[in-house]
Amino acid sequence: MEKFKTITPRKRIALVAHDNKKDDLISWVQENAAELVKHELIATGTTGKMIESTLGIPVRRVLSGPLGGDQQLGAMIATGDIDLMIFFWDPMEAQPHDSDVKALLRLGVAWNIPMASCRATADFIISSPYMQQEYLAVVPDYGGYLSRNIQK
Ligand code: PGA
Repeated sequence: MEKFKTITPRKRIALVAHDNKKDDLISWVQENAAELVKHELIATGTTGKMIESTLGIPVRRVLSGPLGGDQQLGAMIATGDIDLMIFFWDPMEAQPHDSDVKALLRLGVAWNIPMASCRATADFIISSPYMQQEYLAVVPDYGGYLSRNIQK
């Protein structure tokens, strides 16, 4: 039988942008400020600082991506503490923490998290009717290895 978790109307949104994509993300955040302020925002260090000063609301900041922030976000996805992720990663430049980037993207897919890697997908997600509603997300069953948080 399939398992579901309830995603509330107020979502926990992770936001990350690589250095060459930060302007793009901040411009998207400005455009979507009215919607984003309704939700709980979590971000890697530098991205979070920029979003805080753009929106004027507190953003829960984990470490900077290369210092472990991507892994922190990945762990939060695995324990069911992030509902969706906007991650503008740089397709043109290798990152010192490419292995962490790959791991974060992998966990987002492994746990069925809506993820946007570019602005068009972010636009589709933010304008989805699910942003205002409860959403029942299927929790993938990996054969009894589900964490307690997700099962409750
Ligand atoms: P930053 O980290 O927000 O601290 O720049 C982002 C990243 O490179 O993953």
